Amino acid sequence: MDIRFLGGAGEVGRSAILVNGRLLLDYGMKSEDPPQFPGDVDPEAVVASHGHLDHVGTIPSLLSGSARPPIHWTPPTRELALTLARDTLKLHGGTLQCPFTETDVQRVTQVSKTHGYRETFEAAGHEVTFFDAGHIPGSAHVLVDDGETRLLYTGDFHTDDQQLVSATTARPDADVVVCESTYSDVEHEERSTVESRFVESVERTLWEGGTVVIPAFAIGRTQEMLLICERHDIPCYVDGMGKRITEMLQHHPTFVRDADALQRAKSHARFVTGRDGQRKRIAEQNTAIITTSGMLHGGPAMTYVPAIRSNPVNKIAMTGYQVEGTPGRDLLDTGSAEIDGRRMPVSARVQQFDFSAHADRAGLLEFIESYRDETILVNHGDRCADFAAELRADGFDASAPERGDRWCWCWSDA
Ligand SMILES: [Zn+2]
Repeated sequence: MDIRFLGGAGEVGRSAILVNGRLLLDYGMKSEDPPQFPGDVDPEAVVASHGHLDHVGTIPSLLSGSARPPIHWTPPTRELALTLARDTLKLHGGTLQCPFTETDVQRVTQVSKTHGYRETFEAAGHEVTFFDAGHIPGSAHVLVDDGETRLLYTGDFHTDDQQLVSATTARPDADVVVCESTYSDVEHEERSTVESRFVESVERTLWEGGTVVIPAFAIGRTQEMLLICERHDIPCYVDGMGKRITEMLQHHPTFVRDADALQRAKSHARFVTGRDGQRKRIAEQNTAIITTSGMLHGGPAMTYVPAIRSNPVNKIAMTGYQVEGTPGRDLLDTGSAEIDGRRMPVSARVQQFDFSAHADRAGLLEFIESYRDETILVNHGDRCADFAAELRADGFDASAPERGDRWCWCWSDA
């Protein structure tokens, strides 16, 4: 087997791995300004691990020429990838920041092939099987068998249960494991503790008469927050792209942990249309508002945060890690942020809760332990080389390929 790392090696974003020169695993986008894409590639078939921008964001561009490679994914991943592609078109269509057109996105629907977990299918001469990765609905570990070598590409995964999806439990046999390492130096706080701290904090602000703005990613995090609000009977509105994703997931009940709970959570929340100054009125209410974007880049949060920021009784409850250079990170570090082009001091309280959808160090080690005698290639992280070195010190055959690297294993060499 021959594995080429086109992106996502030693970095987070633009994941892309080419197997045996024919089969492409993921084709993501690094959402910086300007965005970055993996190198050009002309695969026979494409397999996507899950519907996040850094794994599927560039896929439609593969259809801009005459090639029509089939794209294999789970049903939710297909829906999420199309939603993200249309969003990229809306934001950047016709500029260099968008490497595809409306026509390319249309073509994606024509070559799409959906598969459930544990249903083996054929792609570019390989046997491929998806296993539930416990990251977001539809997320998959991808097992690729070329007849000689079995490659397990973990994609992003979580080893703890979330309200929305259950933890990964599948550990299929493999000879080579390409493993994400996003939080290889982080120990997450116990999920139930994070959840109780969050609930207590939101309830206190509501009891004091304030408004709580809960910035959340549209995919996964918004639904997780809705489920938590319903469980604890916290009154809430939901706004932004997360509304559409919630509705979409209701059509794929087998890909969430508890479809009835998601249905209850959706009924419990009030969906904001945004018409006629509705957002400004909601921001004055004694309620919680779950809204995109998760790091205050844009979305309806741009209306809610300015509306509630001056009153110290109000609260902004961040729901995940804030990347350096984002307004969300700025707000946590300095107490002010540039919102919609204007720097604003924020008197409302700001708190951060780590509702991560990735395995932490202990989770990664627990996963990798199942592959003690195999080859481990560490990718998707800021400290891939360090983590690979730590694994080697622990007796693993581990390395961290760099972007552009090629890894080859033939039986004759083995
Ligand atoms: Zn992801």
